Amino acid sequence: MELRKPDFYDTFRCIAGDCPDSCCKEWDVAVDSEKAAFYRGLPGAQGDRLRQFLKDEDGETYLTLENGRCPMWRADGLCRIQAELGEKALCATCREFPRLRHDYGSFMELGLELSCPETARILLSREDWRWISQGKAEEETDYDPRDMDILLKTRQEAMELVTTAAEPLSALLLYTYHAQSLLDGEPEAAFDPDRAAEAAAALEQAPEADAFLDVFRELEILTPAWRQRLDAPAPRSLQKEDRALLRYLISRYWLQAVSDFDLVCRGKTITALALLCRLLGGDAVETAQLMSKEIENDAENMDALLDGAYTQPGLTDANLLALIGL
Ligand code: SF4
Repeated sequence: MELRKPDFYDTFRCIAGDCPDSCCKEWDVAVDSEKAAFYRGLPGAQGDRLRQFLKDEDGETYLTLENGRCPMWRADGLCRIQAELGEKALCATCREFPRLRHDYGSFMELGLELSCPETARILLSREDWRWISQGKAEEETDYDPRDMDILLKTRQEAMELVTTAAEPLSALLLYTYHAQSLLDGEPEAAFDPDRAAEAAAALEQAPEADAFLDVFRELEILTPAWRQRLDAPAPRSLQKEDRALLRYLISRYWLQAVSDFDLVCRGKTITALALLCRLLGGDAVETAQLMSKEIENDAENMDALLDGAYTQPGLTDANLLALIGL
């Protein structure tokens, strides 16, 4: 199978004790069944501790928190399981985080999650990047290869557009409709940004920041810091990190439209997440990392946003465009 990865993928190294946030905070860790059985069978104090904090729920096993942190976290910032039993003893979640894997049948894409502060630093400092590939794509797929070809081509165009457009957020939102029309079988045509902007101008409305922020206030919230940020936005102007954030989000979500042919809800969600980071202000890298931890890492939050792209008053195209113009 063909394997694709961003050219920076192999530069990631966990900074462990120097991490300003840590993946060992605030999250219950899902433990695979093999490691759950191994942990429960461990003798001594470490086994007792694991047995105390492992909980089964809805057919899954989780390592629950103690004072907001993983119970195996040590004061020096290191993981007790890794330090005392070795990396092989880690469950799949901890072994793989923050590495992402998307299997598209004929090829596999690797990536890094923005919710890790070290990944956020690497991802958002890149002015540009490219995919590197090894191996050969499989012939057999569950989807029509034509659809994936369109998605791959339009994803590349979208990533280039947000790198060069004067206002990358509105450009992406408008381009998404063009790409959707190609996916829907409309004849091949070049994206005309001027025509798209004219159509967008007809939607003009006053920006409603609270309606937009309410969408995120109604999601599941993990940390008090995030709620405070949502309640005290401090809008800032465009920075180069916003372009890098858009490239990351496009690379991660665009191809997923092969499952339901709905590119518009993904384009709107990507635009909304990048817009949110701009509206909240603060340090661009820290805000994006926190956004990812709060929203991207919660499947229910992501589903609510994708569904809400068509129904939430705060996420209408007119409101998104008005807020981008702020
Ligand atoms: S969040 Fe990233 S850098 Fe921090 S401890 Fe986890 S993997 Fe390491």
